[in-house]
Amino acid sequence: MDCIFCKIVEGTIPSAKVYEDEKVVAFKDINPEAPVHIIIIPKEHIESVREIDENNALIVSHIILTAKKIAKDLGISESGFRIVNNCGKDGGQTVPHLHFHLLGGRDMQWPPG
Ligand code: C5P
Repeated sequence: MDCIFCKIVEGTIPSAKVYEDEKVVAFKDINPEAPVHIIIIPKEHIESVREIDENNALIVSHIILTAKKIAKDLGISESGFRIVNNCGKDGGQTVPHLHFHLLGGRDMQWPPG
């Protein structure tokens, strides 16, 4: 499958990994929107939140727990952070492999664009 995030999981394209376990990989976003901008993905190819159901929903809680751990490790837990998922075209999703953005290190604005 020609999926850039699957290739990051396989290691066939490089990434700046900050965390990995048997279920997920987390790496620095190549185009950061904040001083801390980490992408967290399941190793399994799941296209988006639309493909989450009763059978695979536990991966989402695992990703949130991973984000919490990384936020602590990178020193943004106390000040706060944002976790973002973009789903589909109108949601702004550009890579069709489920991923969550962990953003921090600056004041976030609301609403997003
Ligand atoms: O939510 P969305 O699909 O727009 O986010 C994809 C993110 O993946 C972007 O922030 C982009 O910079 C990042 N990316 C990356 N490394 C790649 C390809 C995309 O960090 N090789």
